[in-house]
Amino acid sequence: MDKGASNFIHEIIERDIAAGKHGGRVHTRFPPEPNGYLHIGHAKSICLNFGTAAKYNGLCNLRFDDTNPTKEDPEYVEAIKEDVRWLGFDWEEREYYASDYFEQLYQYAVRLIEMGKAYVCDLSAEEIRAFRGTLTEPGRESPYRNRSPQENLDLFARMRAGEFPDGSRTLRAKIDMASGNLNMRDPVMYRIMRATHHRTGDAWCIYPTYDFTHCLSDSIEGITHSLCTLEFEDHRPLYDWFLDQLGVFHPQQIEFARLNLSYTVMSKRKLLKLVEGGHVAGWDDPRMPTLSGLRRRGCPPEAIRAFCDRIGVAKSNSVVDLALLEHAIREALDPRAPRRMAVLDPLKVVITNYPEDQEEELPAANHPKDPSMGERPVPFCREIYIERDDFMEDPPKKFYRLAPGREVRLRYAYFVRCQEVVKDDSGRIVELRCTYDPETRGGNAPDGRKVKATIHWVSARHAVPAEVRLYDRLFSEPDPAARERAGQDFIAALNPDSLVVRPNARIEPSLASARPGEPFQFERLGYFTQDGPDSTAGRPVFNRTVSLRDQWAKLKHKTKTG
Ligand code: ATP
Ligand code: MG
Repeated sequence: MDKGASNFIHEIIERDIAAGKHGGRVHTRFPPEPNGYLHIGHAKSICLNFGTAAKYNGLCNLRFDDTNPTKEDPEYVEAIKEDVRWLGFDWEEREYYASDYFEQLYQYAVRLIEMGKAYVCDLSAEEIRAFRGTLTEPGRESPYRNRSPQENLDLFARMRAGEFPDGSRTLRAKIDMASGNLNMRDPVMYRIMRATHHRTGDAWCIYPTYDFTHCLSDSIEGITHSLCTLEFEDHRPLYDWFLDQLGVFHPQQIEFARLNLSYTVMSKRKLLKLVEGGHVAGWDDPRMPTLSGLRRRGCPPEAIRAFCDRIGVAKSNSVVDLALLEHAIREALDPRAPRRMAVLDPLKVVITNYPEDQEEELPAANHPKDPSMGERPVPFCREIYIERDDFMEDPPKKFYRLAPGREVRLRYAYFVRCQEVVKDDSGRIVELRCTYDPETRGGNAPDGRKVKATIHWVSARHAVPAEVRLYDRLFSEPDPAARERAGQDFIAALNPDSLVVRPNARIEPSLASARPGEPFQFERLGYFTQDGPDSTAGRPVFNRTVSLRDQWAKLKHKTKTG
């Protein structure tokens, strides 16, 4: 990770350290709610929180903000831990849960009641909303606002004891119903909700709200710099109020812009809708912006870290081009992905002058720029497969690959010339009959003659059948969420061609031992990895991580050269 990069948050922290604030200590946390899988936006927060702690020799906690039992699940807790670890970060023994603080939070609430700063309110959720006012109109005070601390203490204890039905009462902070900030208009601190919590079971029938819990959890953990996204800027006065009223340790909240990526959605609610609606194969579908999806697709964690470094941390929201993420993935994969050959849409080629009973192994470099990655032998024989679209019977002017009578180079092998096209009854080309020049072994002609194209191939006798999945953007519109803002369903923006399956691909035999996540470049086709969940022993599935074409590099080049 680039420890030198600076951003406005690091500037604040450096000033704090210089001023001796918190004794120069830096302690951050990543606080996910376990109500879904982590996505690339969370990665920005993870890299920022763990990266900042590392940069200033501090600590970073992993804390689950688990105050919503009906939406949370231990499945999500486990997935989140796996993803943070995979990204390359370690919370050591500091794995915390807001639910571990429920008793202490209750005691804080009692203290606020005793101070006359909180009250039990009998308004329904709807009434509270109606009393709240709007941005232009002040709210109205609840008729229960002036209950005595004694009465409130008694009612709050009975709320906890389960004497009242769900939703019948709340505990509210007594702040200011006329505040210009709606968050300060006597916000709810506790609601009655009979729901089994994944950690506390049925111990509680009242649950603290996120706003009450979050700031105090940070305080309990001694978090010095509480980094959060911009939408919490308006909540900061409320957090300050709770912390100041209670006189407890006061973390400093600093807001930064959340990451938005084009051609995808990032809110967990929308991602859950994609999963539950069967629009994707699950949270880890390789088209999803989730970390588990990116991992399954073959994106290495260092690409995500480099991407997060590059986008930096800003104070205003913006949308990052998906092409920049793909660029980071290519940059990470290019130096370390061994080259291989695979044919996605095979067309059989019989080399008529190659002896039927002969086979040979040709050496092929694993990486064109890195000899230390060595070579592997690629088997060759009389029947091979080439890519169907590398042949044209009646080629247009700019098509230089195989055509009747034309000679091309087979990568790492020989020159071959197409002599005959074989078709089935329907006129579909089913086979090419070619001749090879034995003098061109390794790909060069001793007489110096040139060919205009080099194509990839696999040996028909040795290749392994495989399914290859090609992915495109999940949505065909850059901002699918705009549909929702216009009162429509964002599902309508899905790209119908986001997954294209090549069921009859053939891959070179050395790929049979590939492991999920292990990166390869299939020459001329892109970067690929084996799919963990769907591969079977006899039939591996490969996911294309990214194609070779780099739109971002092209864009950059254009702007540089004017
Ligand atoms: P979503 O809106 O996607 O459901 P969330 O903010 O509710 O996400 P949390 O689990 O509460 O999800 O998020 C954990 C942390 O990750 C929070 O500190 C949050 O600010 C941060 N985070 C979430 N989404 C993004 C994003 N797109 N960019 C940067 N940080 C994010
Ligand atoms: Mg949240």
